[in-house]
Amino acid sequence: ARGRLPPLPAIPARSRDGVMVALYANAELPGEVAEARALGAMGVGLYRTELLYLRKQSLPGEDEQFAALRELLQALDGAPATLRTLDLGADKAIGTGLDMPAEANPALGVRGVRHALRHPGILRTQLRAMLRAAALGPLRILLPMVTLAEEVAAVRAHALDCLAELKAAGAQVPEALPALGAMIEVPAAALGVRALLAEADFLAIGTNDLAQYVLATDRNLGALSALYDPRHPALLRLIAGVAIAARRANKPLSVCGEIAGDPVAVPLLLALGIRELSMAPTRLAQARAAIEATQCARLRALVPRLLRASSRSELEALLCTLGSN
Ligand code: PEP
Ligand code: MG
Repeated sequence: ARGRLPPLPAIPARSRDGVMVALYANAELPGEVAEARALGAMGVGLYRTELLYLRKQSLPGEDEQFAALRELLQALDGAPATLRTLDLGADKAIGTGLDMPAEANPALGVRGVRHALRHPGILRTQLRAMLRAAALGPLRILLPMVTLAEEVAAVRAHALDCLAELKAAGAQVPEALPALGAMIEVPAAALGVRALLAEADFLAIGTNDLAQYVLATDRNLGALSALYDPRHPALLRLIAGVAIAARRANKPLSVCGEIAGDPVAVPLLLALGIRELSMAPTRLAQARAAIEATQCARLRALVPRLLRASSRSELEALLCTLGSN
């Protein structure tokens, strides 16, 4: 249906009262970039790297990963990418050749950066490919499922080591490490965000998982879908706290869960101080429209009431009054 429409400009969206919001796309294949750019994405705000591992029987090597990232950066043609390191857990390990024993609670198990730090060989292969790709275009490296600042520090040590190795081998790499960020998906990371900000160069809130852990509700369990609510006031309070801390530390913050492309939630996120969103490409147009319809200043005045809302219905009632802004 979009076929004949002209491409949307890859520029920030502007609220009715002039607040600028950067819009990025979530992606997992280089082939998705052209569509995302045509839909107005300023770059890729979350590049999920799992596919490269899931589709095979053996682990992808450094050169194979580098080639995939080169294709991504070529498609981006100078626009930035945020590359997430492998986010596999015991629930998605099938057929990858990874050492992942079955767990009773995979969502609470050895996944994301926890797996990376227990398998430094796999992490370092991926970091080396990313560092080589960083010579080809602007990129940042993002760590999933971070709980503690120490995890970011440990990955940074590996990355510095890999960079030194690559330089010594004469590989084309940037002089310094690209920005290294942490996803905020674990409630303790959101509540301990000041410590994390001491180690991370930027943050990305993954509301899909953060909602699952805050509400203790499996994000994929149909029987509990009514309880799985990424707009729950408890989650909004965590997002508000992270936004305040990131602004004080003067470090970039984005939201990259599904909520980032939810037209009802987007005004809320702006009110909480979020200025960067990354979403499925197909959501970009509606998110941009929601931002353009929002009066940020008016909304901000409502924030204390929004954050005090004790239930979803109270929050929704407040949102309805806003719908008419
Ligand atoms: C999230 O958890 O919100 C997120 C963006 O990561 P994923 O959906 O890949 O877990
Ligand atoms: Mg996640």
